[in-house]
Amino acid sequence: MIFKTQQPRTRRKVVITRQAADGIITYSKARHPNEAILVLQGGQNKEQIVIDGLVIPPFASSGPFYSGFPIHDLPFDGSYIGSAHSHPGGSNRPSLEDLNRGFYGFVSVIISHPYEDETIAAYDRNGDKYELKIVESA
Ligand SMILES: [Zn+2]
Repeated sequence: MIFKTQQPRTRRKVVITRQAADGIITYSKARHPNEAILVLQGGQNKEQIVIDGLVIPPFASSGPFYSGFPIHDLPFDGSYIGSAHSHPGGSNRPSLEDLNRGFYGFVSVIISHPYEDETIAAYDRNGDKYELKIVESA
């Protein structure tokens, strides 16, 4: 018999500024019924990943069920920490396609229709949900 010991994992939190959250919400609404995709700017330390800026990626393409951007066309910038995209229909869980395609940065934010604070979620590379907090300023 094999006993597995569960290592207590300390998970980092994702903190997003009010301004950045509103930017994701507004952009997703504007792109609806197509997906919206954005690059997230911010910083990170051991305890948390902070999202405080957004960049519209050059040459982004999207439709109702997909969105993407050529990562190679993004200039190297250490403040790019992840990406956000919208799900015009369905849930804010990562789709199989989301998990299979290249993960950009450290965090993947997904917002689902009707695009509110409550429908924003953040995931790590494995599709595990981060605790997400919206703050007035970071
Ligand atoms: Zn998706």
